[in-house]
Amino acid sequence: MRSPDALSPRQVVKAGLCVGCGGCAAQGRDAGAHLRFDRFGRLRPDGPREWVRTASSSLARTCPSSPAARDEDALALDLYPTARHLDGHIGRFEAAYVGAAAEGDFRALGSSGGMVTWTAAELMRRGLVDGVAHVKPAPAPRGEAPFFAYGISRSQAELKAGAKSRYYPIEMSGVLDEIRRVPGRYAVVGVPCFIKAVRLLCREDPILRERVAFTLGLFCGHMKSARMVESFAWQLGTQVEAVDAVDFRAKDPGRPANWYTAHLRLTDGSERKQDWWHLADGDWGAGFFQYPACSFCDDVTAETADISFGDAWVEPYASDGRGTNVVVVRSPLLAQIVPEGSAAGRLELQTVDAGFVRETQAAGFRHRREGLSLRLSRRRGLRPRKRVPADAPALTWRRRMVYGLRQAITTWSHRVFWLARVLRRPGLYTRWAKASLAVYQGFAWSQGRIGKLVDRLEGKRA
Ligand SMILES: Cc1cc2nc3c(=O)[nH]c(=O)nc-3n(C[C@H](O)[C@H](O)[C@H](O)COP(=O)(O)OP(=O)(O)OC[C@H]3O[C@@H](n4cnc5c(N)ncnc54)[C@H](O)[C@@H]3O)c2cc1C
Repeated sequence: MRSPDALSPRQVVKAGLCVGCGGCAAQGRDAGAHLRFDRFGRLRPDGPREWVRTASSSLARTCPSSPAARDEDALALDLYPTARHLDGHIGRFEAAYVGAAAEGDFRALGSSGGMVTWTAAELMRRGLVDGVAHVKPAPAPRGEAPFFAYGISRSQAELKAGAKSRYYPIEMSGVLDEIRRVPGRYAVVGVPCFIKAVRLLCREDPILRERVAFTLGLFCGHMKSARMVESFAWQLGTQVEAVDAVDFRAKDPGRPANWYTAHLRLTDGSERKQDWWHLADGDWGAGFFQYPACSFCDDVTAETADISFGDAWVEPYASDGRGTNVVVVRSPLLAQIVPEGSAAGRLELQTVDAGFVRETQAAGFRHRREGLSLRLSRRRGLRPRKRVPADAPALTWRRRMVYGLRQAITTWSHRVFWLARVLRRPGLYTRWAKASLAVYQGFAWSQGRIGKLVDRLEGKRA
């Protein structure tokens, strides 16, 4: 299928390819464009009918899901032409590390090793940026009002108050507008598709190009809808309206980092906590509440960001409850700043190679390589431009089932939750989620009963 020369926001949404980044609305603010939550708790572009339906060549060039937009390889080649390393999974880079911030309380405040907040603060301390666009708790969350939103921090205290990962819908149109209005140099923190959107917008807009001085990428498994918080509230015996603050990963240095604990603070001052493993939809890999567009993403490590950060999901780091980052550095300037921090004892980092980084994200890469190839081979309609061939790889029956079940959970979690919400029957959703998860884990986990049975059957067939 030929890439369209022009696209409308509606076409992208209808094709299930909108990540709700707000890049389109940032260009259409004068026309009244904005983002709003859809009935499934996902952010979608909205505005006057004319704007939503009019196809434009500029959206075709700047939407991160557009088949006509430059892909991550092309963008990274322009940005980092002399990068020392090139890897088929993590892209171009100068150096990679495993470790954490050693200085102050960055590590304790961060979801992982605190390296994102440390790096943003260091760029500010050195006078390289005036502000950092990142995701912070929203002032007064209630019901449909979001718990988190992008904002610009201009001090270390503000940056620290915004530390931690938010598995929640957020969008950038407001901060991009502020960057355009208020002169200065900025860093933008974001998941891979958001950073790609910023890069594409910078190519079109000289003001953004001049002012966005650094991009800090977060590795990403997928984006979640706002319903995940509601579901956690239900399962912890309350309603989302009673929730005042959410911490998706409460830290406990005494427990393994990969035992995520959800923590809700309620308006009456009380607290509710639960490990993700004990929640019906708490298995990240099962894909509950995932944005549909994330099924067609092939960038795990934010390949167009100047520096990107993930969790070191390999031992011994995964068991270290203090949290440990993997860091991929692409900008030559950051390739100086990070080792200087390390030499001064402000960071505790060890150099690693691309293979180590890949290993920390093994499940994510499987899903975005062989899984994506399978999904692309079945896709009809608007086809995003991917670096993965759509050739339905030779997969075992069990792997196909895992990808199929994950896709079904992604699709149906939105719908079943919506129904349970309308009927005010949380149990409808939680029972469905538990049953779906049991089947999924049966196939995904080789030690499970279903897994063993399928292995035996496949062994006989081979
Ligand atoms: C949706 C999502 C999916 C992720 N998936 C993976 C994964 O599969 N594998 C992996 O290794 N890591 C993943 N991460 C990254 C991981 O959760 C940590 O954010 C990362 O390791 C940095 O930790 P830190 O302690 O250095 O960051 P911190 O010092 O805690 O700082 C985090 C910074 O990120 C900003 N931020 C938080 N949430 C968002 C958001 N949604 N969008 C933009 N900025 C945000 C905060 O404002 C803060 O500035 C994901 C993050 C998100 C938001």
